[in-house]
Amino acid sequence: DSKGPSNFIRHLVDQDLAAGKHGGRVQTRFPPEPNGFLHIGHAKSICLNFGLAQSYSDAGYTGACNLRFDDTNPEKESQEYIDAIREDIRWLGFNWQGDIRYTSSYFQHLYDFAVELIRLGKAYVCSLTPDQAREYRGTLTEPGRDSPFRSRTIEENLDLFTRMQAGEFDNGAHSLRAKIDMASPNINMRDPVIYRIRSINHHQTGETWKVYPMYDYAHCISDALEHVTHSLCTLEFEDHRPLYDWILQNLPDESLNAACVALGNKTAESAYVMPQQTEFARLNINYTVMSKRKLKELVELGLVSGWDDPRMPTLSGLRRRGFTPHSIRHFCDMIGMSRSESIVDVGMLESSIRDDLDSNAPRAMCVLRPLKVTLSNYPAGKQELLQLPKHPKKDIGHRELPFAAELFIDRSDFEEVPPPGFKRLTTGSEVRLRGAYVIRCDEVIKDDAGEVIELRCSYDDQTLGQNPVGRKVKGVIHWVPAATAVAAEVRIYDRLFLNANPDDRAFDDFKDSLNPDSLQVLTGCLAEPSLALAAAEDSFQFEREGYFCVDRIDSEPGKLVVNRTVSLRDSWAK
Ligand code: ATP
Ligand code: MG
Ligand code: MG
Repeated sequence: DSKGPSNFIRHLVDQDLAAGKHGGRVQTRFPPEPNGFLHIGHAKSICLNFGLAQSYSDAGYTGACNLRFDDTNPEKESQEYIDAIREDIRWLGFNWQGDIRYTSSYFQHLYDFAVELIRLGKAYVCSLTPDQAREYRGTLTEPGRDSPFRSRTIEENLDLFTRMQAGEFDNGAHSLRAKIDMASPNINMRDPVIYRIRSINHHQTGETWKVYPMYDYAHCISDALEHVTHSLCTLEFEDHRPLYDWILQNLPDESLNAACVALGNKTAESAYVMPQQTEFARLNINYTVMSKRKLKELVELGLVSGWDDPRMPTLSGLRRRGFTPHSIRHFCDMIGMSRSESIVDVGMLESSIRDDLDSNAPRAMCVLRPLKVTLSNYPAGKQELLQLPKHPKKDIGHRELPFAAELFIDRSDFEEVPPPGFKRLTTGSEVRLRGAYVIRCDEVIKDDAGEVIELRCSYDDQTLGQNPVGRKVKGVIHWVPAATAVAAEVRIYDRLFLNANPDDRAFDDFKDSLNPDSLQVLTGCLAEPSLALAAAEDSFQFEREGYFCVDRIDSEPGKLVVNRTVSLRDSWAK
């Protein structure tokens, strides 16, 4: 057995291995369609497929996972999506076996197999219009009727299919259908279309093909050609499994075997074993939409800045928001694997990154709404270099923090008329500056409008690293030195949707649930000097403010931009 989270799929693989079914091989694949960026739902499938292969391989079996672009719908696909998907998978920490695969690189095999099905009398060219085809298909309660074209001869079918590929017909004029059973209770088995005419330039194969295979036909054969043992997919494909099996069972094993050997995915000697499709529940998360179509709509309408907007549930958005690969893989372990649909609380995703950053992110100080403080009794021109630990528990070294007479604190840490229980700074009271001295506010300076613009304070030089004598100072606030602080733009992100289920039918449109305050941009923030050295994607806990990361796109030397990944505590009322 392998190590890794135990679940029904591992159980099944263990049984197959014990029965000697695949000769000690666990071959999986992750088959994205390059029609958008990957989202956190895909991460569940990636962790499952790559994780399974990895852990069985670690346990001494032959485990591998292929990355296969399922590119049979060229009008919606692009190279941009292919590149983004590759990068996201690598970023998560997974590696595919060998070269990237494309369903399109099997187009010739798929075509030849279609010809083989025609020759076997198991596929025919149908010339019903789409409306007629729908009518003949029947309904859930009514059986379908045979197409009048079902009885075409093999010769006629071969001729028409060849001419479909030769580009003689318009889109939709004919289709190739598997000859199964128009009375099947499973609509997917009522002579499904396996090829259609599409006159379009394909991003991988150009103008070569005029006919394109349908998903249900291409997927099972691609799995077989790659000698996949376990084909894992989401539950909506459960009703398609009989078709998956039908196609493979009706193609001769010798033909599948020979193609598999020709592609170098199998040896001629090993017995041919069909891949087995197994379904699991897709990941749903509340306050989130998880369909590429809807995410694309947000991008195209400019409602977010792009697929990698830090509010998006895409992997590139989560990455830009400051999620680590580890936090996402851990989340996928936590949600587990089952065969019943459920909705995961987004708080679980948030606590996964919060826990990771709490344990690992260096601490720093950043003042979001600066208020100037001048220490009247601190010698002018003097500067002390304080050493603060980067982490309270983990030994990851120290950071240097200059202390001088002019500082900034956060506006919200001072109140002239403090509310009850206020433990921060007020006129005449004391507070500790984090990692430094205790100060007392002596005087408040205001502008003409009555706005507080500066505090004149005094410091107690006996309080560095020790409590003041004879009195207790409860509050601790963060600060930065005025002369050496680093200017920063801070982006505070909140949930993109206000409602737990933006897809709820109660909304005319999921976009009605968008949170108008999901992004707040704070300019003129001041971070401690050590942030001048921060690199793109570095994460920090800004003390008392939350977890932040350096934006990998917009931050530049001399122009620091940080994103709030997550607050210090879960602040959303349940
Ligand atoms: P969407 O409906 O968001 O467009 P999709 O299923 O069409 O997603 P694909 O590119 O076909 O996207 O997905 C690649 C793989 O990822 C498939 O095996 C699919 O089952 C899996 N997958 C997609 N969404 C989820 C999800 N929410 N949870 C788990 N697996 C998913
Ligand atoms: Mg799909
Ligand atoms: Mg899709």
